[in-house]
Amino acid sequence: MFAEVIVDIKSSNTDRVYTYKIPEGMKLEVGMRVSVPFKNRFIEGYVISITEQTSYPVDKIKDIHKILDNYSVFDEKMIELAKWMKDYYKCYFSEALQTIMPVGIKRGEKKVKIVRINISEIPDELCKRAPKQYEVLHYLQKRSPIRLSELVKILNIDYAIIKSLQKKGYIKVYEEEIHRYSVKDIERSQPLVLKEEQEKAVTEVKKSMEKDVFEKYLLFGVTGSGKTEVYLQLIDECIKSGKSAIVLVPEISLTPQTIERFVSRFGNKVAVIHSGLSPGERFDEWRKVKNGVVDVVVGVRNAVFAPFKNLGLIIIDEEHETTYKQSDMRPKYNAKEVAEKRCELENAVLVMASATPSLETYYKATKGEYKLLRLTKRINVSMPHIEVVNMSDELARGNTSIFSRKLFSYIKENLQKKEQTILFLNRRGYSSFVSCRDCGYVPKCPNCDISLTYHFEDKRLVCHYCGYQEAMRDTCPKCGSKRIRYLGIGTERVENDIKKFFPKARVLRMDVDTTKKKGSHEKIFYDFRSGKADILIGTQMISKGFDIPNVTLVGVILADITLNLPDFRSSERTFQLLTQVAGRAGRGEKPGRVVIQTYEEDHYSIIASKYQNYVRFYNEEIKYREIFRYPPFSHLMNIVISGEEEEEVKNIAANVYLMCQKIVNKLQNKSYNKILGPAPAPIRKINNRYRWQVILKSEDRNVLVDIAEKVQTMKYPKNIRISVDIDPLNI
Ligand code: ADP
Ligand code: ZN
Ligand code: ZN
Repeated sequence: MFAEVIVDIKSSNTDRVYTYKIPEGMKLEVGMRVSVPFKNRFIEGYVISITEQTSYPVDKIKDIHKILDNYSVFDEKMIELAKWMKDYYKCYFSEALQTIMPVGIKRGEKKVKIVRINISEIPDELCKRAPKQYEVLHYLQKRSPIRLSELVKILNIDYAIIKSLQKKGYIKVYEEEIHRYSVKDIERSQPLVLKEEQEKAVTEVKKSMEKDVFEKYLLFGVTGSGKTEVYLQLIDECIKSGKSAIVLVPEISLTPQTIERFVSRFGNKVAVIHSGLSPGERFDEWRKVKNGVVDVVVGVRNAVFAPFKNLGLIIIDEEHETTYKQSDMRPKYNAKEVAEKRCELENAVLVMASATPSLETYYKATKGEYKLLRLTKRINVSMPHIEVVNMSDELARGNTSIFSRKLFSYIKENLQKKEQTILFLNRRGYSSFVSCRDCGYVPKCPNCDISLTYHFEDKRLVCHYCGYQEAMRDTCPKCGSKRIRYLGIGTERVENDIKKFFPKARVLRMDVDTTKKKGSHEKIFYDFRSGKADILIGTQMISKGFDIPNVTLVGVILADITLNLPDFRSSERTFQLLTQVAGRAGRGEKPGRVVIQTYEEDHYSIIASKYQNYVRFYNEEIKYREIFRYPPFSHLMNIVISGEEEEEVKNIAANVYLMCQKIVNKLQNKSYNKILGPAPAPIRKINNRYRWQVILKSEDRNVLVDIAEKVQTMKYPKNIRISVDIDPLNI
């Protein structure tokens, strides 16, 4: 018998399948992790099939060295999924398998020794002859089984005593696997009586689950419309029919509050996977799934690989979130696409949900590719009252502070009423755009329609897509004002100003700086929820999952920061963010108020946010996408070239550009293809490495996949690194 093995080496022909002999007596199964001889060492490999025949000369085939775990890591469907991933994302087969495999697998299970009493009556003579042994048995009569370490500690005894008891057969000592992590069990919650729209959604999806067919839904429900209750009841149905469910949530909304909602319904049938877990803990959660100990997994991106044997349902909460895409490591997969493929392979049902679906998803829903389910009403409370303030007007009236007069007076009122306020400042990220303080004008690229980025070094404005450049202006071309300049504010500035104007206010800040320590995120959240502060200032970390009844005011310091990210999705991001943020106000009985400050009050993204009208936003945005041929009307691919010498990086980027052009010119089919660049990447230098990019747009994703393959297998100077991302989410 022979095994076909994918070996863990990274070189251009690693998709090659290697054949090994299965030694006599080795109980090898498909999907096992093995150690195999390769060149003159042993390396790790993954068995993808077992056959009786081979086309290789049998005497040249080496033996499998050993099996690494006593179970199979991948079932056939997971191997199938990995195959799909390697082709779809253009990575090595081994990389795809390793992505599916749990981190921490090499650590293995954690086992402890357990002692169990093996007799019902303690022999009398023991009392006198071996009082210590008697004491142990006496204790075990009350408490057995018990961990050996605990027993030894409680009774303060030697291991020798245990040994002799074991020898006599009075007790049994054995090993048991323990879990390093477990969710806290809490009081059980009962299913709620569903509202009409919820009921309709549950009934529809339930029908598909009963049919055992692959089906895709988009649950489009405003914030607070009870989507989570829909998930809970669908999962319940799924479990009742003997199947399992995966719920994906973005990292930032995997708050204690979210976890509580699932655990209170399903108790210890839930495993949780978040990035705060150690590799060992993650592995244990994976084992719980593998061994059928749990029926539900709630987790971040890679929970999509939870190894359920009988998967019935995958739910993707906040499907528009960018964290579902792995963009820092290969394969640059998107958990949404993987979920879709997995559901297809397993005949499961996929439910994507959002209050602000991504343009791509909603577009597919309008084309019938996803079935649309709608929840249009907030359950307990009304929508907050949203007001937009034009900051140019404030300036014209002599107010140079970062707070408009309206926001200022609302904060003051809230402090007096002892109600809480959230002040939201979208992360600056790499945003460094220029704007006119008088009319709101922002210089944009004539080719790509994205905001130009201000480069401090040479005082030029640069487009990160196509490389277009112009000199920084000193007057606004629209209104002639001289107040055209770089715009940027940080959370610290907001905090300082609040303290200056409201010295008595108790303020908390939540951003990357204040949440570095493990658990600090939770602490700030609980402190704020329990009323230990009046005002919370934060970045998008606070835009989700915060359900705090006493928050009645949300202020958005400057919507323009997201609106002018050098990214074709900047309007979409702004609408999503403003909607999420607005959803934080008025969760309780008291009505909520939202103040959005901006220099661009006429922008459709701001107007649609004001009226909380997604479809209105979608209808505008989709027109712009079509005109500039951005997704969903094309696929993008981003090739980033990095190295230590900027000139060299630039030259290679130019070569990559030419090569892409050559390939595109030779294409037979006349699909729309466009190559942009080379241009400096939005973050031009990271860790002393310069970065330039070439961006491709194509109607035909296969064209991009072909180019990706060629670009990745080309030879480059030693120091140069190439990173390719198909369908990138931040670009
Ligand atoms: P979403 O996930 O859409 O933002 P949630 O699931 O958080 O909305 O629901 C908002 C609130 O409404 C929650 O407090 C939830 O407990 C409550 N809720 C949801 N469904 C019902 C229902 N059918 N009856 C009563 N309350 C409900
Ligand atoms: Zn102007
Ligand atoms: Zn451009």
